[in-house]
Amino acid sequence: MINIILLGPPGAGKGTQARHLVETRGMVQLSTGDMLREAQANGSEMGKKVAAVIERGELVTDEIVIGLIREKIAEGAKGGFIFDGFPRTLGQADALGDLLAETGLKLDAVIEMAVDDAALVARITGRSTCGGCGEVYHDQTKPWAADGKCTNCGSTDIKRRADDNEDSLKTRLMEYYKKTSPLLGYYYAKGDLKSVDGLVAIDEVKAAIGKVLG
Ligand code: AMP
Repeated sequence: MINIILLGPPGAGKGTQARHLVETRGMVQLSTGDMLREAQANGSEMGKKVAAVIERGELVTDEIVIGLIREKIAEGAKGGFIFDGFPRTLGQADALGDLLAETGLKLDAVIEMAVDDAALVARITGRSTCGGCGEVYHDQTKPWAADGKCTNCGSTDIKRRADDNEDSLKTRLMEYYKKTSPLLGYYYAKGDLKSVDGLVAIDEVKAAIGKVLG
């Protein structure tokens, strides 16, 4: 059982790689972004509270996301956890360290997915996902089939995120550089950081991560 963090700016491909690790290694993906969108879709009080913050591209409070992660860690995961989009601040990183220690778990690797900013804008502004199975599509590089059906599950439910536009992306990138990128130094100093090139083809990134995880 291994527990890892996927670290990188929005559009680096964290979600795509996490889905692959779930399928091939039986790991459990913990995406705080997905959890927050789910809370919004369910119309919960918390979901309503964070909707505008997310749409602007700002980070929600540490307290909220740490609470979400605490619940999930308590449920356990046989194949280990993939932390995707969490932690995003030094406070969250410290809290994750404490939560794992309390549960007797350890972090095996923090994988940085390195990409350049110009690529992120193109990746994010053309992005959509299948509402049925979560398959990720892109207007230019992986468009939907002409019949509008997902090649993976057949659903016709095309979802685009409200924060996948150029304005919100600017804020999301700024939040990343100000608050999340210091985690690279934090985990480097702990000896946990591994870096893979996130700009190469999806299968090559999969192989690079596979090599890191052994
Ligand atoms: P993501 O799906 O990871 O791109 O997250 C979408 C949005 O949810 C982010 O832009 C933030 O507004 C919020 N969010 C997700 N994860 C976190 C986190 N760990 N800390 C703070 N805000 C988060």
